[in-house]
Parts: sequence; C-alpha cells; structure tokens
Amino acid sequence: MAIEKLLIANRGEIALRIHRACHEMGIQTVAVHSTADADAMHVRLADEAICIGPPAARDSYLNVAAIISAAEISGADAIHPGYGFLSENAKFADIVEAHGLAFVGPKPEHIRTMGDKIEAKRTAGALGLPLVPGSDGAISDLEEAKAIAEKAGYPVIIKAASGGGGRGMKVCNSPDELETLMQQAGSEAKAAFGDATVYLEKYLGNPRHIEIQIFGDGKGNAIHLGERDCSLQRRHQKVLEEAPSPVLSTAERNRIGGICARAMADMGYRGAGTIEFLWEDGEFYFIEMNTRLQVEHPVTEMITGLDLVREQIRIAEGKPLSVAQEDLVFSGHAIECRINAEDPRTFAPSPGTVTRYHVPGGMHVRVDSGLYQGYKVPPYYDSMIGKLIVYGRTREGAIMRLKRALQEYVIEGMKTTIPLHQALLEDPDFLNGDYTIKWLEEWLAREEKP
Ligand code: ADP
Repeated sequence: MAIEKLLIANRGEIALRIHRACHEMGIQTVAVHSTADADAMHVRLADEAICIGPPAARDSYLNVAAIISAAEISGADAIHPGYGFLSENAKFADIVEAHGLAFVGPKPEHIRTMGDKIEAKRTAGALGLPLVPGSDGAISDLEEAKAIAEKAGYPVIIKAASGGGGRGMKVCNSPDELETLMQQAGSEAKAAFGDATVYLEKYLGNPRHIEIQIFGDGKGNAIHLGERDCSLQRRHQKVLEEAPSPVLSTAERNRIGGICARAMADMGYRGAGTIEFLWEDGEFYFIEMNTRLQVEHPVTEMITGLDLVREQIRIAEGKPLSVAQEDLVFSGHAIECRINAEDPRTFAPSPGTVTRYHVPGGMHVRVDSGLYQGYKVPPYYDSMIGKLIVYGRTREGAIMRLKRALQEYVIEGMKTTIPLHQALLEDPDFLNGDYTIKWLEEWLAREEKP
C-alpha cells in the first residue's frame, strides 16, 4: 500500500520531524493538536490541522477517540505516533489497524510483549540477547528471592514488572534487607502502576547505557544501525547522546548488533526499535526494548546517512528495508544535545515566550526544534524545546563543532540548558569519553555548574 496522507499523533519537534520526512516523500500531513498548540510550527506547516482537545494530554494527545475521528474526517491512511504519548500503547495500535489505517510502528503484539518488563526479559533471553542475571520471572517468595540474590551476588535490584521512567526500583545490599525492600517495592509498584509484581536482578555498580537501533520489515528480515551511547543522564533522563560509543570497537559493535538483528528477524519484528543495554567491563546486559522511534535517533541518521522516519514509513507501506546490512556504512561521529526550557542549575521548568531566536548553522549542524521568534512554549508538556545535533569525521571534530554551534545558539525569553552543555564539553572526563550512567549526577553535585 502507498501512504498518501499521514496523521501525526504527536507535538513539538518530533511532529515537525515526521512532517518533514512525509513532505520529502510526497505524503500529505495532518496535524492534530491541543488548544495550547494551535500556534505550533508543525501545525502551521501541515497540510491540514485538527484541534483534538484542551491542553491536558489525557484530553488531547492521549485521546484515542478524537485522534481516530481526526484520521477519518481527514481521510488519512496512516498514523505515526512519534515517541511518548500513544507510541507504545498496544491497544492504540490495535485500534488504528482495526480502522483500516496503517500504524507506523511495530505489530501490536510486539508492543505488548516488550511493554511488560518480565515478558520482555523472557522474550529477549529466548531470542539469545544477553541478560542481567536474576530471577526468571516474577518473584514473591522470600526464600526463593534469597537464593537468586545469593547466586547473582549482592547488591541486587528489585524492579516493578510494570515500572517505567526509572520508577519502582529498589537496590538491596544484603539478605536482611531483602524482605522489607521487596514489600516496599511491591506496594509502591501497586500504588504507581496498579500491579505489585516485582522481579529481581543483579545491580550493576557503574555501567554505561548503550542501545542498539534496529529495523525489521515484519517479514523476517532485520538489520542493526549500530549503537548510541546515552550514559549521560540525570534522573534517568538522557541529556546528551553520541554515536558511536567511545568504548566500542568495530568487532564488538558487529557482534552485539548482529545478535540484536538476528533476534528481531526471528521475532518477525516490524519497524524501528531500540534494544537498551547496560554495559560494564565489556559485557552487555539487556534492560528493555523501546518499540518506537527514539528522541536521539538523529545521531544514528548522521553516521549512517539513513532517514529513520522515511524508513519507518516505507516499512509501514509494506516495502522492504532500503538497505542491506552489508551495504550499511558507519562513518564519523555524531553528538546530540537535548535543549530543555529549564534552569541549567536547578532544572526547574522555565516555559516562556521566545523573544530572540537564532539557530546555529553551517556544515554538519542540525537543529530539530519547533521554536520560532514569538513562539510561546506552553507549560503543559515536556520541557524539551529542541535538539542540536552535529556530525564530525572524528569525535574531537564533532566536539569542536558542537562548541562552536552552542556558542551561536540564541534563545531568549526563557532559561535553557545550553550553558549546561557548554560546561559539559569542557570537562576532561567527557572529552576522554570516560563516563558512566552515574557520572553526570556526580558531576552536577561536585561542581557549581554552570
Ligand atoms: P525504566 O523502564 O523505568 O526506564 P529500566 O529497566 O530501563 O527502567 O531502567 C532504568 C534505569 O535504571 C537504567 O537506565 C539504569 O540506570 C538503572 N538500572 C536498571 N536496572 C539496573 C541494574 N540491573 N543495575 C544497575 N542499574 C540498573
């Protein structure tokens, strides 16, 4: 099937990103938006725009009935969910397909499987992905938990099966703490996610976060697009991402990438996906799979030359993957800075009106953002207002270009995290690529930055 008109069920920079890919493919776009986003850039640029509700996301961007109605009214033949909102909602994907629309995403059953952490881990293990040692599934019996923890070695981490966003986890250092922490984790998980199920795994002391981008055609073919290193995090939120990872060799990349691609081929996975691993002492440990496009996908685009949204849309049309693994070339180095409307010191949200605006340009500089002069950043949504992505032939070259681009970037009318990135780029550990998932928080605590 050829998609002629696509509805973008999202907002902000990703909605614009999807719109751009569509127009480059000759596909018409339909923007759906809340009343707070009537002036958004993607709404202005889309061929059609439909208001689907008031500002609160549950009434608009999560309002399935309104979104499906908008698709029917506008005669769209596909829906792209972006990231966040309904992107990993299997029921939504089911409903989209039940209405005869193409869902630009995985098969609903794969979203469902990977959305349940225990089921995801079991599936990943069966497909040959390396796991964090721990319980095979849900755990409720204390003696069993003690035996598993003993075998994995302390410390261990108790995790909620339905957890997300880094919530519902407890680190346990000794057998005497296990009973209390299991109970606490269970009741917190019940309160937060409506499901008290917990499982247990070894707690890795100081890992990196390295994720593999994959694509499947849904018919048993799959490729990997290498890794992204997303270890620079604050409260489990990624701050800066780069590809390739400063610590992986070509052989290691090919090995883990090959394992992931084979797993996705065996599964019959369709579309874009990211397999997230913790990495420590040269070993990969699967933590979860995201069945959608990621915020940080541009760094992969920069080093592969592939347009990932275009690839997603082609697959949703039933076309084959546009590139074979052996023809895919990884070249150079790319870094992405997430620019948030936040105080760079306290991280307090700082929405406001853009009074002065200038985006950096020049060779190998990309800005994905819906901002423009006079635009009012609404206070209702995520504070990310843009992404600055640069490419260089080497990591050093990319860092120099990023410093230059950050210097050019002007956003006035609100506080942004630009100064945070500038300070980060001066740090010797960062320059050496010597950081783990704990590094940024320690750095923030250590230094009066910026
Ligand atoms: P969520 O779905 O809530 O994001 P994840 O399983 O992806 O949960 O884990 C979120 C974060 O928690 C990881 O990025 C890592 O920082 C930490 N974490 C999870 N599992 C472990 C582990 N076994 N050892 C050490 N840290 C872990």
